[in-house]
Amino acid sequence: MATSIYLDYNASAPVRPAVIEAMTQALAAGGNPSSVHGAGRASRRRIEEARDDVANLVGAAADEVVFTSGGTEANALALLGCDAEQVMVSAIEHLSVRQAVPDALQIPVLPDGVIDLDAAAAMLDKAKGKRVLVSVMLANNEIGTIQPVAELARMAHDKGALVHCDAVQAAGKIAFTMAQLEVDLLSLSAHKIGGPQGCGALIVRGGTAEIDLNPILRGGGQERGLRAGTENVAGIAGFGAAAREAKQGFGDWRRVEELRDQLEGRIAQAIPQARIFGAKSRRLPNTICVALPGVPAQTQVMVLDLANVQVSAGSACSSGKVAPSHVLKAMGVPPDLAACAIRISLGWTSGADDIDAFMSPWAGLAAQTRNTKAANAA
Ligand code: PLP
Repeated sequence: MATSIYLDYNASAPVRPAVIEAMTQALAAGGNPSSVHGAGRASRRRIEEARDDVANLVGAAADEVVFTSGGTEANALALLGCDAEQVMVSAIEHLSVRQAVPDALQIPVLPDGVIDLDAAAAMLDKAKGKRVLVSVMLANNEIGTIQPVAELARMAHDKGALVHCDAVQAAGKIAFTMAQLEVDLLSLSAHKIGGPQGCGALIVRGGTAEIDLNPILRGGGQERGLRAGTENVAGIAGFGAAAREAKQGFGDWRRVEELRDQLEGRIAQAIPQARIFGAKSRRLPNTICVALPGVPAQTQVMVLDLANVQVSAGSACSSGKVAPSHVLKAMGVPPDLAACAIRISLGWTSGADDIDAFMSPWAGLAAQTRNTKAANAA
């Protein structure tokens, strides 16, 4: 059987062997972490060890970590738990942020895929006197652009606002700490760093002592009263193992970045009509969002899949249905070009062979499209 070439790390990274081991041990051990007997206490220890590891990945304290069922829930807890009178989110946030507060004001982005800080400042001025929450992601999931979170946070704090950052895509790929970002709340997701799906965390600056946060899920005192429900012990143990490995693996992303640059170079050379979005901005080391004009993204994904190469169509969607990318739209990309954008996201298992495996069918598709166009024109 042909090996598959996995270039979709931003959707879900492959689960690390150490994660499988940690989760298997936790599942085999069992025990409810709220129980006072030995099995319960052992289960509690696993959670607290993982809490240390997750906190450590982002330079936080263990008592600032609230485990959730993933990045989506962490975002919802931040956005809905703050009781803000006015929420502002960037126009390129993940849907879990955009749809948590559908009437939030939108901070526009510039054509390079980075938020417009001047516009944000004007919006903050206008909301003076209100309890404001600003939510901006650290790195965009579709195009990888890195946002000026610390600058925005300083500005927002000067005006008395709280700041949340969705760091789901940035965590483990670029090094940062809560203190460097100067944010109050930060979302993480285990499956983007090689941990299990269905597990995440909200980091709350100073724990409950500093930020007045209301739980969404009630009915139990778990997670210091911020998230009721028996903890996903195996998931959390896996998240901890993934965070530990991610923290040790930052060096490898330089190699991935070189690989990404090589791939972009080959795309530019072989297919000059291809458009790479956000290429001039600071980006994650692993992400390429590229449009092949005239070829719908779904066609590209299918042709690549037949060649055992896995990528996403622009924005990967939960239902498998591809909606137009709100990120590219916010950047002013024409809809017909946005409909031809795919996302390639590399990771620690990626190598030079993977680039060859991608280029061969994709360049073939581009050539076929060129030939069909020429034949139609003749
Ligand atoms: N935020 C961003 C930027 C994401 O890319 C994703 C997932 O793709 C999420 C949040 C949601 O995370 P989860 O899948 O853990 O709910």
